[in-house]
Amino acid sequence: MRVSSFFLNTQREAPAEAEVLSHILMVRAFMIRKLATGIFTYLPMGYRVIRKIEQIVRECMNEEGGVELLMPAVQPAEIWQESGRWNKFGKELLRFKDRHGRDYCMGPTHEEVITEIARSYIKSYKQMPVNLYHIQGKFRDEVRPRFGVMRAREFIMKDAYSFDVDVQSAAVSYERMRRAYCKVFERCGLKYKMIDADSGPIGGDLSNEFMVLAHTGEDEVISCDACDYAANLEKAAALPVEPSADITFTDKLQEVFTPNAHTVRDVAAFLNIPVQAVVKTIILKADERLVALLIRGDHEVNTTKVKNFLRVPFVEFAEPQHIEAVSGPVGFSGPIGLNIPIYVDYSVEKLPSMAVGGNKRDLHIIGAKLGVDFKAEAVGDFRAALVGDVCPKCGGRYNITRGIEVGHIFYLGSKYSESMQACFTDADGVKKPIEMGCYGIGVSRIAAAAIEQNHDERGIIWPIPIAPFEVALFSLNSNNREVTDAVELLYKTLLEAGVEVIYDDRDERAGVKLSDADLIGYPVRITVGEKSYKNGCAEVKLRKNSEAAAVKFADVLMTVRELLECE
Ligand code: ATP
Ligand code: MG
Repeated sequence: MRVSSFFLNTQREAPAEAEVLSHILMVRAFMIRKLATGIFTYLPMGYRVIRKIEQIVRECMNEEGGVELLMPAVQPAEIWQESGRWNKFGKELLRFKDRHGRDYCMGPTHEEVITEIARSYIKSYKQMPVNLYHIQGKFRDEVRPRFGVMRAREFIMKDAYSFDVDVQSAAVSYERMRRAYCKVFERCGLKYKMIDADSGPIGGDLSNEFMVLAHTGEDEVISCDACDYAANLEKAAALPVEPSADITFTDKLQEVFTPNAHTVRDVAAFLNIPVQAVVKTIILKADERLVALLIRGDHEVNTTKVKNFLRVPFVEFAEPQHIEAVSGPVGFSGPIGLNIPIYVDYSVEKLPSMAVGGNKRDLHIIGAKLGVDFKAEAVGDFRAALVGDVCPKCGGRYNITRGIEVGHIFYLGSKYSESMQACFTDADGVKKPIEMGCYGIGVSRIAAAAIEQNHDERGIIWPIPIAPFEVALFSLNSNNREVTDAVELLYKTLLEAGVEVIYDDRDERAGVKLSDADLIGYPVRITVGEKSYKNGCAEVKLRKNSEAAAVKFADVLMTVRELLECE
C-alpha cells in the first residue's frame, strides 16, 4: 500500500476529552474518529487492526469447535420479555419503536437471539455439543462512555454460545473456550491474566475474566504474591482477620454520647479506640427487603458478595427514608434492637466486643457482643478484599493490580433455556433444558488495551500480529531519484513476497514520515538515505528498538522475514 493512495491524516492534537493514552494515540494515528459520544468510525488504519484481531479470534474459535454465524443488531422486545430481561436490563439497553409501534432494542448481547435459534432447531441430544459464535457490533448505552473505543457505546464483540446435554459436557465446552481465549490473547501479543470472576447467583467457579494488565485499567485485580491465584475484586475471597493483639476490648455494654462524630474515624477518635473496633451497620436493599450488614470500620462492604450469598438479583444501599424507618437517623444505625435480618462479616465475628451505632442521633454503644446483645442471621464473607489479605489457596498475601477486561466466559446452566423453553430429548427419552455457556471477547477493546500496554513517548508499538502493517518503508531523500528508485524496487520485492508493507511515498519531509511511522507504530521500519544508498544498504529498525541496522539491499527481504518471525 502506498500512503499516497491510502487514507491517512495523522493529527497533532489530542482530543480534549481523552483521558487515556490509547484514546489519544488512536485519534492521532488516524485510526478512529468520533461521530457521537461513545460512537466511532474505524478509519482504514484502525480497521486493519480490528480485522487482524477478528481473524485471530476466528481461527482460535474454529480450532476449538466454534461455528460462525451472524445475528442481527436489532432485536425484537418479545424475546427479551420471554427471558425476563426487558425490564431488568436497565438503561444500557437502547429501546425504540418501529413505524408500527412495536418495541425493539439494539443488541447489547445475544443470549435471547441465540436461544430462540437453539430452541427452534436443537431437539435431540444427538445435535450437541454445538458452539455458535459471531463477531458483530454491540450497542450498550453506557452510563459513562469514555476512553475511546475501550468503553464505547457501540463496539465490536465476539460472542459465542455453547449448547450441551448436561453439566459435565457443558464443563468440557467451557474448558475449550478457556483454552481458545488464552490462545487469542497470546497470539495478539498481550500480557494478560485469567482470573476468577463473579458468577452471580448461579454460583460455582465457572466464570473467568481475561485481563490485560495496565495501570489505566478500570478493574481491580487481586493476585497472590506466592501462587497463581487471581480474582476480580468482586470475587476475591476475604478471609477473616483477627483484631490487632494490642487492643483492649471493654466487656461492659454502655451508651456513649458522640457529638460531632460523623465518620467512623471521628467515632473511633472520640471513643479513643482503633477504627477496627468500631463496626458499621449498613442497611441494604436486597431485592424487595431490607437487611443490615455488619462490617468492621476499616473494611468496605462488597455488595456482589452479599447479592450472591442471599441469592437475589440485586443488592444496593438503602435510601435514607428506608434507613430512617428501620434504624433511626442515617449514620447511627446499630444492630441492637434492630428488626431486620442482620448479616455479619467474618472479621466482625472475631471481635470480642465492639462499638456500634445506637439508632439515635449522636449515640453509640460500646461493649456490644455478637450473640449476646444482638443475633446474626448468618456470618459470611461480605467485605472487599484488601492488599495484604491472606490468599485462600496458599496463605500468601494479596496484591492489587489494575487491568482491562478483554474477555469474559461464563457458565449459564439452564438460565435462558428454562425461561425461553429451549429443551431437547435426551438419550433416555426425557425432555430437558439445554445446558448453556456464553463467552465474550471485546474485539475493539483489545486494540485499545494493546496500546495501553505497548507504547512510548512517540506513539504506539504494535505487537506484530495485530499491527495495521508489518513494515513501513520510505526514502529519506525523496528528491534523489536513485534513492527513490531503490526504495521502489524494495517495495516491489516486499509486496511480491507477501510482506504487509506500507510505502510512504508522499512528498513530505523525512521528519514527518519518521514521526508518523513512530506514531502509528509499524513494527519494522525500512529507510534508505543517500548515505546508506551509496553503501548499497537500507536501514532496518524495529519500532521498539532505538538502533537501526544497515542491511544490503539483497538481504532486506530475508532480514525482514527473520524479524517478523522471531519477534
Ligand atoms: P465491563 O465490566 O467492562 O462493563 P461487561 O462485563 O459488561 O464489561 P461482558 O458483558 O462480559 O462485559 O462483555 C464481553 C466483553 O465485551 C468484555 O469482556 C469487554 O471486553 C467487551 N466490552 C463490554 N462492554 C464494552 C464497552 N462498553 N466497550 C468496549 N468493549 C466492551
Ligand atoms: Mg464481564
